[in-house]
Amino acid sequence: MKGPDYFFCRIPMNPLYKHRIFCFTENAAVFLWKDNDLPLAACPNNPGHAVDAGGTFVDKKLEPLEAVYRHRIHCVTENLDVDRWEPNATPLASCPNDPAHIVDPASSRIIDSRAQASSSHVLKETADAPTGGHFKAESLIFAAGPNGSVTVNKSWPIPISIHSLRVGVQPGMIGDSFSASFGNDALVGTLAADVAIGDSVIAVSPSVMQAAAPGYFLVLVVASVPTDLGRIVSKDPVASTLTLETPSPSAFSAAAPTSVEIDARALDSIEFGVEGLFTLGDDRSNVISVPAGTPMRCVYTNSTAAAKRLVAYVHYSY
Ligand SMILES: [Zn+2]
Ligand SMILES: [Zn+2]
Repeated sequence: MKGPDYFFCRIPMNPLYKHRIFCFTENAAVFLWKDNDLPLAACPNNPGHAVDAGGTFVDKKLEPLEAVYRHRIHCVTENLDVDRWEPNATPLASCPNDPAHIVDPASSRIIDSRAQASSSHVLKETADAPTGGHFKAESLIFAAGPNGSVTVNKSWPIPISIHSLRVGVQPGMIGDSFSASFGNDALVGTLAADVAIGDSVIAVSPSVMQAAAPGYFLVLVVASVPTDLGRIVSKDPVASTLTLETPSPSAFSAAAPTSVEIDARALDSIEFGVEGLFTLGDDRSNVISVPAGTPMRCVYTNSTAAAKRLVAYVHYSY
C-alpha cells in the first residue's frame, strides 16, 4: 500500500510565534504574532514607547491557539507593503511599524489566515510531531454479521501521532471495505447566508471558517437530515466563504438554522483486493497528528453472508 502522502491530505503549516513584551508607556504586556522567534525589541503598538527589553519572550509557538490573520497595508512613508499577523480580521488602518506613518487605506487587506489550532485540523500529516515520542499500539476489533457494517469510534485524551494503521485481511474478506475518518461529522457552526440550488460557494459562520480546510468533507444538516456537499475546495477568509466540490442540490436557509459539519476522510471505503496485512502509512518521517479528543471513526463493511471478525492495529506515539 502507498503511504500517508497518498492517503492523507497534507495541510502545510509553518510555525507562528506569539511574542510578548512589556510596554512601560502603556503599562501593559503587548502581544504580537510573528513567523519568526527573533525577540521583540520595541513595542508593537508604537516604536516610540518605552519597553522592558528584558521582559520580551516567545509566549507560544508551533501553531496559533487562536485564529490569526496576516494583514498587509501599503505604507506611503516607507514606500513599501507592511505585513502583520493580528488575532482579528479587522483591516489595518495604520502602519504596523509606526502609527504616525502615512498609509494607503485602500491597500489594506488580509493575505493569509491561520485557524485556531484546536480546530484547525482534525487530521494533519507532519514531520514535527508534538508528542513525547512514546510508542503504543492498540487493536480495534470489528465483529461483523452477514452483510453488515461495524463502526468503531475511538479518541484519545492526549494529542497523538499515528504512524500506521494495519488491517488483517483474511480469506473471504476480498471485496469487503474499510473506511477511517477523523472528526466524525463534527458540528462546527452554521450557514451565514441562504444557499440556493446550484450554489457551490457558501457563506459560513466564523467558527466554520476556523475549522474548515481544503479537502475536508462538508455536510449541511437541517432537522437531522444531512446533505453531503463533497469536499471543501477552497476557503476565502475575507468573504468568509467556502467553495465546495458539489453544487447544492437544494436550498438552505441560514435562519433555519442550517448546521455545518465537517470530517476528514483518510480512507473512504477502501476495498480489500488481496489477503494479508494491509498497511496504511509506514513512513517514519511523517505521522498523522491527531489533536486530543478528536474522534476517529473506522467502519468495516462485510459484503458477504458469512460473519467475520476483522482486527486492525493503530501504531502511534504520544
Ligand atoms: Zn506600547
Ligand atoms: Zn510605515
